Amino acid sequence: MNDILTVIKAVELSEEYLRKKGIDEARANAELMLAEILHCKRLDLYLQFDRPLNEKEKQVYREWLQRRANGEPLQYITGNVEFYGLKLKVNSSVLIPRPETELLVEKIIKDNRESKGLKILDVGTGSGNIAIALEINLDSADVTSIDISKEAIETATENAKNNSATERLTFENIDIFDEGAISKLNSFDIIVSNPPYVPEEEMENLQKEIKDFEPVEAVTDGADGLRFFTRIVEASENLLRQNGRIYFEVGEGEAEKVVAILKENNFLNIEIINDYNGIPRIVKGEKS
Ligand code: GLN
Repeated sequence: MNDILTVIKAVELSEEYLRKKGIDEARANAELMLAEILHCKRLDLYLQFDRPLNEKEKQVYREWLQRRANGEPLQYITGNVEFYGLKLKVNSSVLIPRPETELLVEKIIKDNRESKGLKILDVGTGSGNIAIALEINLDSADVTSIDISKEAIETATENAKNNSATERLTFENIDIFDEGAISKLNSFDIIVSNPPYVPEEEMENLQKEIKDFEPVEAVTDGADGLRFFTRIVEASENLLRQNGRIYFEVGEGEAEKVVAILKENNFLNIEIINDYNGIPRIVKGEKS
């Protein structure tokens, strides 16, 4: 890069660089990283397109571009992501929240807007995205979030604080397979989970961004993809009150299998919701 590097020149050069490295949406990636470095909105870059970058900015931008070219997800590089109108911190110890998961949150809020004092359990909270969005948007709901990862709980706790969630939202470092720890929890009106659902054998087909950078234990169950759904439904015998509801996000091709698990356990009023690509993505059931 030249000594005097303006915003517009930096974006153009970086777009070309990322494209050559095979990165999709090279322009958007280049703009989003530079906007983060300059502490401005992406569109505001063009209000200062001939502003020169200083040495420090150039140095950080170069480093970020290399990381992105190497396949690291943009959100881990900038350190944050938007989810349901919230700004959340992310790092390599948590899954990057996806737009599909906003549908899960939206469905729960739509179904339960009128209910007061709901008790909700979020299994595998990761960055805390689901739990924080629910606590903020559902009046007087108590949300308990659990995750097997201590680092995830730390990140989620920080996100809750940054987004002014109240003390009605609590986090616990618990493994859903740990019977002893689970038995100490009270019973809930709602259980929600976007668990690791990619079958082990599909891991190798995932894009590098996921396979090499996102926490493997948040992506796959190391089995057939259904291990967590089966476990959560089983645990719901004690964790969920009668007529309580389970809301799951499921992987592609898993909805019918998850419905079967719910039916085997006498769940009723089952609903399936498709995502933006027409893939059955959200499964809901009610305990009989
Ligand atoms: N609850 C988080 C999310 O929905 C994390 C999910 C996970 O780690 N599997 O993004």
